Amino acid sequence: MRYVLLLLILFTTGLNAFALDVVYPKKDKVTINGKTTFFVGSATPDSVLMINNEAVSVHPSGGFAYFVNLNHGDNVFTLTSNGEERVYKIHSTWKPAPPPSKEKKTPPQVTVYGTPKLVYTNDDKTPIRTTPVSAGINRIVHLQKDVPLYVDGELGKFYRVTLAGNEKYWVAKSSVRTDETVQGGRCAIISKSFKDTDKHLIYSFKMSNKTPYIIKENSDKDFENGLGLNFYNLITKPDTPYEMYFPIQHQLFGYSAEFKDDEFILSIRKMPKISPSNPLKNITVTVDAGHGGNEKGAIGCLGDFEKDITLDVALKLQKELRRQGAKVIMTRETDEKVPLKKRVEITNESDSSIFISIHGNALPDHLNPLEHRGTSVYYYYPQAKGLAESILNALNSEAQTKNDGIRQGSFAVVRNTNALSVLVELAYLINPEDNALLINEKFREKCARAIAHGISNYLKTFAL
Ligand SMILES: [Zn+2]
Repeated sequence: MRYVLLLLILFTTGLNAFALDVVYPKKDKVTINGKTTFFVGSATPDSVLMINNEAVSVHPSGGFAYFVNLNHGDNVFTLTSNGEERVYKIHSTWKPAPPPSKEKKTPPQVTVYGTPKLVYTNDDKTPIRTTPVSAGINRIVHLQKDVPLYVDGELGKFYRVTLAGNEKYWVAKSSVRTDETVQGGRCAIISKSFKDTDKHLIYSFKMSNKTPYIIKENSDKDFENGLGLNFYNLITKPDTPYEMYFPIQHQLFGYSAEFKDDEFILSIRKMPKISPSNPLKNITVTVDAGHGGNEKGAIGCLGDFEKDITLDVALKLQKELRRQGAKVIMTRETDEKVPLKKRVEITNESDSSIFISIHGNALPDHLNPLEHRGTSVYYYYPQAKGLAESILNALNSEAQTKNDGIRQGSFAVVRNTNALSVLVELAYLINPEDNALLINEKFREKCARAIAHGISNYLKTFAL
């Protein structure tokens, strides 16, 4: 009898693998500031799940997703599947916006100072922005600590930076300080030097002190490529930028620009030597598996973690790239937490030409997981757009994922690495069809091979 009971327990536990399981929302009582949200989870494959008397189809893999509208206040959802029932109470704090008032609101105005003020940056990587907003693609440069800036006005939490004439940018007030002990803020170039090394073109400028600068990429394949560099606040040219242009052959492959004490160093990575028959040979690539350790990333319909999917694809990609002769650096090879800053350091210290960050996608409460599928590839600097396109094409054609587009995205690992850097969102963990792909090892293998092909196809276009 005892054995029968044990068998019965084992049998029901087996069945429970497909018991109704909700992975999002994470709790059965939640508060959301929005008018929509979704349920994501798993139930018996191919069965019908009921959510408040609406039939929701369950994917053959067991995954489901369902988008719901919320009323202001309490919303109760009852999920039933094969006799199991779960009740979710979702409180929505969202209220419709009041009708616009007839009075015309005047947009906030910049307070302009009579005489500009001199301030100093507080941190390395202080963003200087084209608009007074701390989000979006509006960074023009990141300055290091102790760079003097002239500010001629303010708006909200930002100072307006005046670099030269009409070149106005913005810096967060919290990122700068006034320093009464330092006078002037103008800078002189004392000497210049140039070194052509094996892998880099290095331009050095000895300066009297740090000064703001802006770098602009010219990365159009059909024209002369290179980098434009402007220095500002120079003693000799206080009101106009000191402009320089550094042409490079073929294509930019990453660069770095920074002050080391009072010496400004622009280091441009030369295009690696690419063999037409074996484009990846001797190319240094950093592969970055997103998330890890207690940072699980997104959670898929079946409860799988993004961190495990990204690591598996990253390890498969490592193997494939090595097989094709690349030198591969990994930011992690196990289930561990690696801070973003560390991932950037690993990439930059290895002098990688290419950086690939692997992720799986999810969505905020206001978007429908059933309407979003496919692969997207993000770049930040224009120099990496061609690589992003090549990887997306390979994934779409070889792993047969839906094309979810190329986008410019401000991800720290992509923005701060001195390489051709991209971030790949393989597919959506919370879309049942995409999730069924992601949990399939063959699909992950195809993704790894496609990414390697995407890199290799791209490099091939520069083979000599
Ligand atoms: Zn991610």
